[in-house]
Amino acid sequence: MNERLLPLLSRLMRVPGLAGYEGRVRQVLKALIGELGLATRTDRLGNLIATLEGRTGVPSVMLFAHMDQLGFVVRKIEADGLIRIERLGGVPEKALPSQEVLISVGEGRDVPGVIANKSHHATTPDEKYRVVPYPELYVDAGFATAEAARAAGIDVGTPIVYAPKLLELAGGRVAGAAIDDRAGCAAIVEVARALVESDERPTVHFVFSVQEEFNLRGALTAAQALLPDIAIQVDLVLATDTPDMTARGDVRLGGGPAMSLYSFHGRGTLNGTIPHPALVALFDATAQDEGMPLQRTAHIGALTETAYVQLVGEGVATIDLGFPTRYTHSSLEVCDLGDLDRLVRLLVAGIRRIGPDFSLDRDDYIQ
Ligand SMILES: [Zn+2]
Repeated sequence: MNERLLPLLSRLMRVPGLAGYEGRVRQVLKALIGELGLATRTDRLGNLIATLEGRTGVPSVMLFAHMDQLGFVVRKIEADGLIRIERLGGVPEKALPSQEVLISVGEGRDVPGVIANKSHHATTPDEKYRVVPYPELYVDAGFATAEAARAAGIDVGTPIVYAPKLLELAGGRVAGAAIDDRAGCAAIVEVARALVESDERPTVHFVFSVQEEFNLRGALTAAQALLPDIAIQVDLVLATDTPDMTARGDVRLGGGPAMSLYSFHGRGTLNGTIPHPALVALFDATAQDEGMPLQRTAHIGALTETAYVQLVGEGVATIDLGFPTRYTHSSLEVCDLGDLDRLVRLLVAGIRRIGPDFSLDRDDYIQ
């Protein structure tokens, strides 16, 4: 078990980074990647990019995870100091009341608050089982007037996230906000650490992307600039081993990393990813040789940035690899450090196998 994963993940999860406001997460990752001796650059959108040169004549790889998290922005400050919120990303409205949030004014000046929940004693029977739409909710940060909120640096547009934290649960499991996708970022830091030490490797671009929870396209500018042959995206996959999820799949928390064979989202986006068969074969064979399970997931309703990245240039061979996660997009997502550890090992071993004979020719993989 990689002992660095827990402190690394904890460090990354304790930093607020709403989509569009990833700066503080980027600073942490920049330092971590810099410690490995890799130079980093930031593109105009905010993606952090580090390139590790490898063997020539071998397909290049972009390995990426998103830095941003979902949350809210301030929509209106009421005269009584209560704060109305606009959603940013796939916010589960049923899981918002009574949550602790952090209004990200600036490092050292952030303001804690709570999303209100009507006093139970005054809740009518029909309200008890009703989900309150977010426009009816408000954040109480303790201010008695709008002026007091403004004096604390809060204004229309100020970002708000679930209170950053990491809870250690039993059995190597952790809970907190933005496991999606700081756990992916942590995994990539550890993959970079291992690949720097290896001479058997293709050129690998490590990309920590922005605005995934907003429009799923932040990684596009990085892919357009790098024009990789292969793109591997690291993010959560839905764990389906709780009673409410069993019909959706067969992904067990603690059952090892998973690969997505099919994703699609039709509501407005109409996009998805069917992975390149060379990469499915590569990671299947790698998992087998490493003696680790590789779970599979195939369902609609979710989407990742590979859906867009695959369309860059003449086409990029893509695949989504991930770690099982429960309670996604809530303020307390849950993942398993053992899954992350095995995911890191799978990625390192798989990427190292990409050599001069690795074919991305579709005609070599007719099924
Ligand atoms: Zn994500």
